[in-house]
Amino acid sequence: MRGEEPVVNEALKVRALPEGSYDKLLEFLRLYRDAVQIIVDRIWSIDEKLSRKKLHRLFYSDLVSMGFRAHHAKEIYVNAKNLMESAKNNGGRKPVLRKLSARIDKYDYKLDLDSMTLTLKLHNNYEVKLRLVTPKERVEKFRSWSNYELVVKYEDNEFWISIYFKRIVKLLKPRTVMAIDLNFGNVTLAIYTLDGRRVRLKKLNTPHKKILTHKIWIERIQKKYPKSWRFIKGVRKAIERHGERIRNISWDYAHKLGDLVAELAFKHNSVIILEDLEKLKENNKKGRRFNKRLGLWFYRRIQFCVEYEAMERDLEVVKVNPRGTSSKCPRCGGKLVEDGYRVLRCMKCGFVGDRDVTATINIYKKYISKHSRCGVSGVAPNAPKPDESPSGMQGNKNEAMTTES
Ligand SMILES: [Zn+2]
Repeated sequence: MRGEEPVVNEALKVRALPEGSYDKLLEFLRLYRDAVQIIVDRIWSIDEKLSRKKLHRLFYSDLVSMGFRAHHAKEIYVNAKNLMESAKNNGGRKPVLRKLSARIDKYDYKLDLDSMTLTLKLHNNYEVKLRLVTPKERVEKFRSWSNYELVVKYEDNEFWISIYFKRIVKLLKPRTVMAIDLNFGNVTLAIYTLDGRRVRLKKLNTPHKKILTHKIWIERIQKKYPKSWRFIKGVRKAIERHGERIRNISWDYAHKLGDLVAELAFKHNSVIILEDLEKLKENNKKGRRFNKRLGLWFYRRIQFCVEYEAMERDLEVVKVNPRGTSSKCPRCGGKLVEDGYRVLRCMKCGFVGDRDVTATINIYKKYISKHSRCGVSGVAPNAPKPDESPSGMQGNKNEAMTTES
């Protein structure tokens, strides 16, 4: 929806090397852990709900007298409360902390991405400077982001820092609309102007067949060892290997496609329109559009990557209900029937079109009918008269079949 500005959160986890001695940092982490433990012990038997205000009243001055800074104190009691609550919610026992890890407020550190250093304010006004051990390119993109909290951890004799960044996405005002039709075998991207002229069409294959091959292998193995496959190491390993391949192929594809879609949309200043998977699931129960053998997970993965890459480029993504996108005539709303390989024909008005391209027209129309705003002229109306061919909706078979890229 327009109007709300989405926020992107991302954590950067890097190894850090203290400059000079790290005794004080270790001392701080131990002190911090023990302070959290003391508070957990004290609030464990308290049944009433503890507000921050109450926690502050109970523990603030003790913590400060232990040498903690004001925001350290806040992080410590909030941390203790969260630990206590999640342990109780899981019906577990009182937590006993062993790991050395501290959450630090943005007021208690200074991050300098130019020199790749981080200065932490510790107890008793000690400070420690750490060098971030990571290629500079990795932090480059965070320069324009804001950072709010970080977590310092001491694990296997190494210090690790997770810095939490956030960025408010300023959505660009779209000049074109990119409709995406996802099928198991292929993906069709079509870019339309706001008045319905198609300016770009791209069809891509998906690795559907490759994935299916691995799935079939898994099923074959499981069939051969119906009861024992879980318990024989070699068999289980073989199944895991095929599963691993499926994961790699699908993530790899999803990342590449997400990147390609977002790049193209960025070039054309498009709003990206996807089909709503939740609705797809509901509609799916009635229809038979989707091959059950490859679940919705593949779509989800692709959409996740498309949305992520779009966010990175400040592009808006809108989801529309997929109902009827490949069965309704975009010209007259009549029912489409198959007329040869991947070609659909409208019995009512004679519209003929490639199945996937027709779907993108319908997806485009769904977006326009909901989001057409003042100032957008010539928008293809919701229900065009049967005798008019809305611009961009080629009734001509050859035209709609053309694949440019
Ligand atoms: Zn029609």
